[in-house]
Amino acid sequence: MQIVDNIESMREIVRNLKGRSTIGFVPTMGALHEGHLSLIRTCNKENDITICSIFVNPTQFNNSEDLKKYPRELDRDCDLLESNGCNYVFVPREGEIYSKANPVIQFGFGYLDEVMEGKYRPGHFNGVATIVLKLFNIVDPDKAYFGQKDLQQFVVIKSLVDELDFNLQLRCMPIVREKDGLAMSSRNMRLKDESRKVAQIFSASLHRAKALLLHGDSIRSVKEKLQQEFDREQGANLEYFEIVNAQDLRPLGKADDKINIALCIAGYVGGVRLIDNVIIEK
Ligand code: AMP
Repeated sequence: MQIVDNIESMREIVRNLKGRSTIGFVPTMGALHEGHLSLIRTCNKENDITICSIFVNPTQFNNSEDLKKYPRELDRDCDLLESNGCNYVFVPREGEIYSKANPVIQFGFGYLDEVMEGKYRPGHFNGVATIVLKLFNIVDPDKAYFGQKDLQQFVVIKSLVDELDFNLQLRCMPIVREKDGLAMSSRNMRLKDESRKVAQIFSASLHRAKALLLHGDSIRSVKEKLQQEFDREQGANLEYFEIVNAQDLRPLGKADDKINIALCIAGYVGGVRLIDNVIIEK
């Protein structure tokens, strides 16, 4: 596996590969876990060449403390990538990625930016779109891999790729979980003992909400019950719980078996922000 630390070298490598080999791309912020590695392995299976990027993107953090505390473990990450079949890891410097002093472009996603993550993390998707489009322009992949863990991020990126006619295929891969159900996340390592136990409420309550919905409970009653679970749990705070159309993230008035329904949750445990979701397939 080759480590590439500047844009020109990455472009040169891609120029030599393009057309002869299919290129799969997995963008990440590092501190890799099984969730990331599952994307790498699928990418490896479906493409001749796998490129992973590691870049802790400052423009998508709306909380400077969160950015400062974000784990950085490049040597360990490179070992994991190499043993999971990655061919190139692109690790650009922040100064090169954001070399223009005063960027003027701002992305707007309308409704997609006003709900859930967009509502609670203003500017987040502008930062995500900026870095993902930059990386697509540098790596020029045939396929790019993202996790359902960040469902709204996937929907935003899909709208960019579709509406701007990017010549690449997007793949959304299932959420990899810990044994107790907690969705894997680089932020989980900041959960201390008690908080780590409490964090289980996110996946467990989603699981129960899904079962209630399938049992025929109304959306309103399911939302109330989940809120009550959080009210009873001292260590966890619910930020939002939404039941939406998984395609366009529009809220649903009632369950509909003709569409994929996403149950999306976000909140805090021990000062760590967690998100999770489950999808009920039509
Ligand atoms: P991040 O490093 O958090 O920006 O994540 C990089 C990619 O890995 C994103 O597409 C995430 O959705 C995906 N990802 C993160 N956690 C998981 C997980 N537990 N299961 C599957 N994919 C994940």
